[in-house]
Amino acid sequence: MTKQTQLLIATNNKGKLRELSQLFSDLPIECITLNDAGLDIEVEETGATYGENALLKATVLHRESRLPTLADDSGLEVDALNGRPGVHTARYAGPNATNQDRWNKLLNELKDVPEEKRTARFKCAIALVTQGMPPITVEGMCEGRITFAPSGNGGFGYDPIFFIPEYNCTMAELDESIKNQISHRARAAVKVKEILRKWLK
Ligand code: IMP
Repeated sequence: MTKQTQLLIATNNKGKLRELSQLFSDLPIECITLNDAGLDIEVEETGATYGENALLKATVLHRESRLPTLADDSGLEVDALNGRPGVHTARYAGPNATNQDRWNKLLNELKDVPEEKRTARFKCAIALVTQGMPPITVEGMCEGRITFAPSGNGGFGYDPIFFIPEYNCTMAELDESIKNQISHRARAAVKVKEILRKWLK
């Protein structure tokens, strides 16, 4: 890739897009969106794992765009729910649910679960598909606990109900720069960046 290399970020999620663009901001690439690439394609997440889903999205959108393409699939695994909602995190409260609907459903499911048993983790898989390199998938994870009520306005998705003990606050109360050091996505992005750096040379 050269200085002007474009990297398609295969998501319509503005939060993910903002974080990924920030995470890759020190690479000599231009992150472009599906919208920028004129693509209006919703890839059905039929995989059994985050990795499979990320690879599926990156593969389809690379085929359509012919651009180096990166896709992220993430989810929240709650121990008291035996790892649910997991790969179904986005659809946990139904197809048209709001974030508030999702928090309420999760908080309600956990209403009798004491603090010490509310452990959970965010997981993220990032897939990169481009010509001249085998497709790659990397993963990252961030441990925390589900709160009893939402708190904070930063981040997106489930961040207001995800408490990080090391920072004594929810992910939505963290500075974006801190979230981008410790999140599941940041940890996966560090791995993909190493691969991108080598490939750019
Ligand atoms: P997907 O990866 O687009 O399938 O998203 C899975 C679900 O996890 C969505 O409901 C997202 O809002 C949520 N999610 C993904 N990443 C994060 C995050 O960094 N913080 C909070 N929620 C997230």
